[in-house]
Amino acid sequence: MDAKIFRERLLGWYQEHQRDLPWRHTRDPYPIWLSEIILQQTRVAQGLPYWEKFMQAFPTLPDLASAEEQQVLRLWQGLGYYSRARNLHACAKQVMEEYNGQFPRTYDELLKLKGVGKYTAAAIAYFAFGEAVPVVDGNVYRLFSRVFGIETDIASSKAFNEFFNLGLELIDTQRAGAFNQASMEFGATYCKPQNPPCLTCTFASGCHALATGQQAKLPVKIKKTKVKDRYFHYLVFVHADQVLVRTRPVGDIWTGLHDFHLVETTKPATPDEWPTDLGKLLMGHSLKGGDVEYKHLLSHRRLHARFYEVNVPEKDAFEGLATQLEMQAVTWGNLENLAKPVLILRFLNDREI
Ligand code: SF4
Repeated sequence: MDAKIFRERLLGWYQEHQRDLPWRHTRDPYPIWLSEIILQQTRVAQGLPYWEKFMQAFPTLPDLASAEEQQVLRLWQGLGYYSRARNLHACAKQVMEEYNGQFPRTYDELLKLKGVGKYTAAAIAYFAFGEAVPVVDGNVYRLFSRVFGIETDIASSKAFNEFFNLGLELIDTQRAGAFNQASMEFGATYCKPQNPPCLTCTFASGCHALATGQQAKLPVKIKKTKVKDRYFHYLVFVHADQVLVRTRPVGDIWTGLHDFHLVETTKPATPDEWPTDLGKLLMGHSLKGGDVEYKHLLSHRRLHARFYEVNVPEKDAFEGLATQLEMQAVTWGNLENLAKPVLILRFLNDREI
């Protein structure tokens, strides 16, 4: 399909169907950047309340940069991919320290920011500073690959440049914003992953996928990552209204979030099969619970978790465990204020305190 025809049809559709998104009413790079980071791997309907919460808690970049990391993680709780939250915070500090509190104004310079990839840099460059660069997100990959019959694996490293260059040919430089918005919106709301309504589509004549019946095949995305099962056995040590928690270490999932003492196995295991000296750990106390398995799916991991409560009535023994396991005693009320993975939240919601 010719670039001019594509552009006209797309912008014609957008004229009638554009959605009202609050971060599109501004050219301030801060809310734009915030929305772009939140919406990576998150749908608008899920991300919007988070964007609102962040704007309320941290109305400006200096507010976010000076926040405690725990506060940022706590607000992010439930969105997943927590490295995005840590990068968001690190980026705010970077802009304060290295750019005098002002976001850089060009695509190339924006790419140097922590957590800002090609897509996000292009989005900020255009939406905040008017640079006529195409924005290529997952929705745009779908639209372009279907209309133009592109079979490049969109998970491959060369995909972005190929689609970005096509975008440069297609973009209406006078109306780059509308073009970018329209291509993302069209992919998100019309040319959907499953059963797109092709027969009434503005691209029906000329769409490669429709002509060849390849809607379900395009875009091509080859999954390389194998999902690995992990078996978590949590020991929840309780004394009066206190519970032992730890801050998860760097180098594994959920860095900086809080959970309980963890015993991990590579296959399902009962307590007597755990690779730990359970007798020493329990000091005569008994395990309770563990009958429910919580399944939790991450991008590359499938977690199977069970929670066992251990009531420790002696204060000294409880404090000794905290020292031995390098954990912290908090009240159930304070645990509420700490950032936790959704898996832990699910357990807490089910637990009758
Ligand atoms: S015709 Fe179908 S596959 Fe092609 S752009 Fe329209 S909705 Fe997408």
